Amino acid sequence: MSFVLTPPVQTAVPVADGRSFPVHRIYCVGRNYVEHAIEMGHSGREPPFFFLKPADAVLAVADGQTGQMAYPSLSSNLHHEIELVVAIGRGGRNIAAADAAQHIWGYGIGLDMTRRDLQNDMKKQGRPWCIGKAFEQSAPIGPIHPIARTGRLSKGAITLHVNGELRQKGDLGDLIWSVDEIIEHLSTAWLLQPGDLIYTGTPAGVGAVNKGDLMEGRIEGLGALRVVVV
Ligand code: MN
Repeated sequence: MSFVLTPPVQTAVPVADGRSFPVHRIYCVGRNYVEHAIEMGHSGREPPFFFLKPADAVLAVADGQTGQMAYPSLSSNLHHEIELVVAIGRGGRNIAAADAAQHIWGYGIGLDMTRRDLQNDMKKQGRPWCIGKAFEQSAPIGPIHPIARTGRLSKGAITLHVNGELRQKGDLGDLIWSVDEIIEHLSTAWLLQPGDLIYTGTPAGVGAVNKGDLMEGRIEGLGALRVVVV
């Protein structure tokens, strides 16, 4: 095939064994922990809802490395949201929650970085969140760990420290919508495909970071993700 432009490079996330996971789409779940929903001014009980980031919003951080995220344009309120990321290995439509695990290739630690000031402006005006959520490097992620090695993750601590200070703390067992239920809901609305990433929502304690701040996210069984804002 002859392209009129150089085709974009395939976005990929390292896998712990040295290979790479190719990224197709990035789905994100909104308000999926009760305490976080409450801190955002909601009741904590509502059907799941989704937004997307472009695949090339990924900032892949290899094991043991510290990622560098550039402070984004237009914002003066860049927020961290630590999240469990589910990597889809087998696609499908209308996947039942009971079958969801067969579609999971692995898990990673991710940050749903948010220009909160711009997101809030859009919310007030009833406009799409894209400018607040879907910008370059807005999806830092550590290595993908195969489910074959980790087993299914349904509970375990999820934390985020900034410059050594604990900011966010939760447990995967506190997800309002479980990973299986998320996959069921998502696959009624979109055709899930191999390479899709799902950011499953953040626990309470979201807040701002500034240039020079070091974020360190941890999820039990998945190690750590370190990103510095530059
Ligand atoms: Mn989020």
